[in-house]
Amino acid sequence: MRKPSSHSEFELIHRFFASPNLSFPREGIELGIGDDAALVDVPSNKHLAMSMDVLISDIHFPAEADPSLIANRALAVNLSDLAAMGAEPYCFTLGLVLPQNDEAWLADFSGGLEHLAKKYNCPLVGGDTSRGPLSISIQVQGLVDRDRAARRSGAKEGDRIYVSGTLGDGAIALLALGLDSHLGSEFSLTVNEPNAACLQFFEDAYFKPQPQIEFASNAAKLFSSCIDISDGLQGDLQHILDESEVAGNIRLGDIPYSKSAMCCVNPENRLLAALFGGDDYELCFTVAEKDCVELESIADQLGIRVTCVGGITAGEGIEYLDADGSPVGLNPQAFQHFSAQA
Ligand code: ADP
Ligand code: MG
Repeated sequence: MRKPSSHSEFELIHRFFASPNLSFPREGIELGIGDDAALVDVPSNKHLAMSMDVLISDIHFPAEADPSLIANRALAVNLSDLAAMGAEPYCFTLGLVLPQNDEAWLADFSGGLEHLAKKYNCPLVGGDTSRGPLSISIQVQGLVDRDRAARRSGAKEGDRIYVSGTLGDGAIALLALGLDSHLGSEFSLTVNEPNAACLQFFEDAYFKPQPQIEFASNAAKLFSSCIDISDGLQGDLQHILDESEVAGNIRLGDIPYSKSAMCCVNPENRLLAALFGGDDYELCFTVAEKDCVELESIADQLGIRVTCVGGITAGEGIEYLDADGSPVGLNPQAFQHFSAQA
């Protein structure tokens, strides 16, 4: 890997990333960009939560997309992992591989990081820059009260399974934006062209996923387990079930969909998107029955939609239920195919 070759290239990177809008001071950050390493405090009653996502151009985002949207998405998906632990954002680092030194691109890209960095008081404290095919690696650091992190492993028989927000929008957004989906040729919109409001909704769903930081930091004390939905409900819930050594059921009719998903996609494809699509960055979490009223009131106060979609049982695997509570076999080949991949 080649480093930026000249002093001026380094200056450029420094100018965009060591800016006061991005690497601003924050309590506990002793030293940010500029030395060989950043120095940060970890209070003795906290754990440092660390999570990293690598995004490769044309695999995880379209190379030609607006750089500020790419940046926003890259930081948002990382913050979503912190939310899933119930951690509060602290700071982040950035590994950037660039094909060339494009000043306008860098200005837009760094500008695109500012909104979420400021919103969550999460400054950029360091990184590395190299020359090569475009990729963006972000590592976020968060703080969570010791032994209070929301792990995948705590779900218990009798707990309820909840999801935040609406599901399937990330996968449907790929169709609306004309991008490739792994869900196959049957997975399509029912309309030729989504209307302007739906198109905007899906563009935001893809590029501006809203990490559930506030909700999680208020409600995680009631979660017995939690994960963020990046690969579809089926696969991500299965991680909770595996780690917790329990089974779960999902009432298919209770899965929450957005108005735009209802408008642009038929019921079968909505279900496919919710269960196997991914890129939703909503939370799936379990709550003991005695805590559900409090949980729902916290969500209500914050204006966050949460939906109970099922429950934890003994055994293993996921059972899908219809409106009467009878088991539904997800028999169509498509489902089996994606199920095997998940
Ligand atoms: P070193 O050779 O010691 O790794 P670098 O030249 O890579 O130093 O980086 C110098 C400083 O600039 C370091 O503090 C580093 O964290 C920061 N830095 C480099 N690239 C980035 C980037 N993409 N984002 C944020 N900080 C960066
Ligand atoms: Mg370096």
